[in-house]
Amino acid sequence: MEKCEAKVWYIRPQKKNAVLENPKQLGISYTGAFPIYKDEYNFTDFKGLIAFNGTTLRASEQSKWYPIIYDVKKDQQLEQVTFDITVESKNAVQIFVNGDLPKAGPLANFRSATPLAPMLFIGDYKVQQTANALFLNTNMNKAQLAVFEKEIAEIKAYYNKVLAIPYDTKNIFIEHTAIEKFNKGRTWGFASYPSIAIAGGNLGETIDEVNKKFKDSTDYPFYAHEIAHYYFGNVLQPNSTLFWFFLESTAEYLSIKASEAKFGKTYGDIYFKNATNNLRKFKAVPLNKVTEINQIGGTYRYSYGPLILRGLEQIIGEKRTFSFLKQCLNTKGKPTDYAFFKECALQSGISQKEWNAFEKQFIESENVTALIKY
Ligand SMILES: [Zn+2]
Repeated sequence: MEKCEAKVWYIRPQKKNAVLENPKQLGISYTGAFPIYKDEYNFTDFKGLIAFNGTTLRASEQSKWYPIIYDVKKDQQLEQVTFDITVESKNAVQIFVNGDLPKAGPLANFRSATPLAPMLFIGDYKVQQTANALFLNTNMNKAQLAVFEKEIAEIKAYYNKVLAIPYDTKNIFIEHTAIEKFNKGRTWGFASYPSIAIAGGNLGETIDEVNKKFKDSTDYPFYAHEIAHYYFGNVLQPNSTLFWFFLESTAEYLSIKASEAKFGKTYGDIYFKNATNNLRKFKAVPLNKVTEINQIGGTYRYSYGPLILRGLEQIIGEKRTFSFLKQCLNTKGKPTDYAFFKECALQSGISQKEWNAFEKQFIESENVTALIKY
């Protein structure tokens, strides 16, 4: 077994209730060998894993590659931070820390005056550039880059229209070899605003240059989901009991809406038909009974949660559902628990009567699939 060593400091005030001054500088060094995954023995990859594939290293904020500040009083992790970091990696040709630009290795300094999640991407890779994005480790031609950029711009314009918050920041798209070979050809991705990382794909090959669109119709909803994390993930930074609902179910619901705008309402009909069929036997802990974040598991957050938002849409309509989502985005600094859900709903103009109907049908029920219309 190969071994990784990291030094970790726990810093606590000496006396109870004393206020601790943060240290001005911290040093973190990783030594020894970290496992390189490139065979079939590794079954999993996710945002929280430090992924070495032999060519690149990827470490998001969720992997805790640097000390994460934890606010004990509010029970919140502060993943978005301002920073001034020097990264040294002996054989690195390029180093990138989310929030700054990629720089030549093996030693470079990175800063961000805006609080962001400092994801790390190191290795021997090329950087491609367009007017609105940077592409790390891709190999696209000009036409492919233009089509890719057009599709992303369309998604951003749609969200700006319905949520009234522009998304002007340039994105960084990261392509890297998957470390999980269990399902051949599997690709997956995640967002650490404004970066979107895709594991296992070749971005250039996803583009239909003749018809100027993604070849595969599932790519548009995929990017729409990741782009939606700017809103639910960055503008609103979920925490507390409904963390996963406000992070993933909202992003997935918005991705369905963006895809309906692109492909027509039949997109949503097919989506909800499949989702309800797959979830007939699913048993959900009602959102008003969730006491800890992991009661909203993977299926709940990605597949079942969007049905709850669809239920709200069935009662108050699409436009007012967007007003509710806008209200969530504009309510700062509150724990995203059930009280937050209700407060934002009522403040967005949903009447007590409508809320009661929604709560009774779509929250208190352990399975809403029979109620979803398509
Ligand atoms: Zn997501």
